[in-house]
Amino acid sequence: MSARGVAKIPKRIDSIKFSLMDPNEIRKMSAVEVKTADTYKDDGHAYKQGLMDPKMGVIDPGIRCETCGNKHNECPSHFGHIALELPVMHIGFTMLIKTALKSTCNQCSNILLHSAPETHPLDPEKSEQDYYRDRVHDVMRKHGVGSTEFKKIIKEIEKECSMARRAICMHCGSEQGKIMLDKPTTFKEKKKDKGEHKLNARDIREWLEKIPDENLIFLGMDSDSSRPEWVIMKVLPVPPITVRPSITLDSGDRSEDDLTHKMVDVLRINQRLRENRDAGAPQLIVEDLWELLQYHVTTYFDNQTSGIPPARHRSGRPLKTLSQRLKGKEGRFRSNLSGKRVNFCARTVISPDPNLGINEVGVPVHTAKELTVPIRVTSRNREQLRRMILRGPDTHPGVNYIIRGDHFRVRITDRTKFIWSGFRCLNPNCDGGDPEREEPYTGMNPELNEVLRAPNFLPGMVFRQENKRTIEGLQELYVADLEATIANLRGEDLEGRSLKDDNPNAIIHNRWRWEREHPDEDYPEHLIVVCPHCGSPWDEEEEERSRLTHG
Ligand SMILES: [Zn+2]
Ligand SMILES: [Zn+2]
Ligand SMILES: [Zn+2]
Repeated sequence: MSARGVAKIPKRIDSIKFSLMDPNEIRKMSAVEVKTADTYKDDGHAYKQGLMDPKMGVIDPGIRCETCGNKHNECPSHFGHIALELPVMHIGFTMLIKTALKSTCNQCSNILLHSAPETHPLDPEKSEQDYYRDRVHDVMRKHGVGSTEFKKIIKEIEKECSMARRAICMHCGSEQGKIMLDKPTTFKEKKKDKGEHKLNARDIREWLEKIPDENLIFLGMDSDSSRPEWVIMKVLPVPPITVRPSITLDSGDRSEDDLTHKMVDVLRINQRLRENRDAGAPQLIVEDLWELLQYHVTTYFDNQTSGIPPARHRSGRPLKTLSQRLKGKEGRFRSNLSGKRVNFCARTVISPDPNLGINEVGVPVHTAKELTVPIRVTSRNREQLRRMILRGPDTHPGVNYIIRGDHFRVRITDRTKFIWSGFRCLNPNCDGGDPEREEPYTGMNPELNEVLRAPNFLPGMVFRQENKRTIEGLQELYVADLEATIANLRGEDLEGRSLKDDNPNAIIHNRWRWEREHPDEDYPEHLIVVCPHCGSPWDEEEEERSRLTHG
């Protein structure tokens, strides 16, 4: 088989790994720091360091991107970032924060498991930390990190660490409180007789920062790629403009994407927070603004967080933010990826049938005729496919179109199916034969020319005479007998009996058999195909061509 048309695969994805994003990476990949909440000036240009800064990519044709210099169809578009005045929690990771706070010491941030030998339940040489580490590794090996077993073992460690008998840290001796989460984002620590106090995002960040890398395995984290404090954000990535394009209404007004609206809220509060802090405003006011900033960042990620009211447009419609774009029936996964319409796919009723195999399913004939699969022609299936072409688009199992060697797609119709399932005579003067000619070809049959004009022919084709009543009276005309022809191509007659080897009607089938049985030999005399229009013999070059384009 030729290598023609075989798709080359430049890169093959082996696996994908998800991890937290390093804030330094967010800053590094950012093309611009977004500082002002405004988008467009009155003259229509975007504000520098605004949410529509052209450094984040271009959508208008003709303009070049300020970051990479490409036009809109080549610019990959670029992220920006917002530097938050005070850290806020990422709403997607509150459970991770809870686990981390419960499992580690509030002073020294070490995991609340014994590290000294003789604390292992089985092996006196080893410690309790060794015991749990081995178990986590074991689960990872057996079930993988996405499994329920993995979640279970992490939960078990969390439970063990927050037990009442570990109220005093075994590493530094400080008293541990009970960690409580007031959904969605308020953490509190309650100590036995001192009452409870709130842990704000900055406190938590400092706590998480001190957790040693080698303890992260007990939280179910991979120390190679992630750090727990990264879920408390000081810097927020701003998605490129292509992710949140603005639309121009008929009236000429611009309408911004919901994500842009949300980023405007974040920037406004961030700015007010900075101003108030710089002006030395009372702590209470700063804390209120901080909470508001947390609210806007939370709803930016997920506008259906339970426990807080969703952010709404002035019209009352809730904003569609990041998580709403992805989840649910209308989200990216179920609607755009699983529900993607592609070629060679359709939807139909299916049917059970006692005659079907266990690996088969019944579809209506109409669907089966419409829904085709591309099949590559090989020397093995060539004759079977030739018969399918001959059946045409209306008889199942037939063919709707063929893709030629030069990649052209040719639709098969009732008229062209004879041409494309047969051969083509390469004699430039082949004209179907003229009975008036001085030396007409002896085997010439004019009725063939009526059904399949020169220079096309199909050895083994059977004709039938039919009478058609017209205005001029009864007319005799020839039509192809499809069933008999297909039987001949199979090397059989209509009753399914095998034709003799020297029967000229079975020549296509017998040539194919010869080819398979004697791949390196020439055809014997009786298998040489001759054009029935003009009598031209088949030459080798012709044969090659015929095999490429028709077979
Ligand atoms: Zn660019
Ligand atoms: Zn401690
Ligand atoms: Zn010819």
